[in-house]
Amino acid sequence: MMRSRTHSNIGTFPTDPIEIECEECGRYGRYSKAVLIKRYGEDLVLPDLLKAISGDCENRLGPATLACGAIYPRLVPRRREGG
Ligand SMILES: [Zn+2]
Repeated sequence: MMRSRTHSNIGTFPTDPIEIECEECGRYGRYSKAVLIKRYGEDLVLPDLLKAISGDCENRLGPATLACGAIYPRLVPRRREGG
């Protein structure tokens, strides 16, 4: 059986809870996989999950030119900032 899907989804996320952080508005959240799967379904891909969760981001309520900077901090190497 071949799996040709390249996008990770909620079910294959490496950590539980799933952490989400927005660099633009400074918000941070942890979401239990079980809760997310119940709400969105296990097959929802991570980019879409990010959109769904950050949908109420403060920046999204403003002008459309302001994009929300929500990321999965566990999947993105953090910049090291001294001080
Ligand atoms: Zn944001």
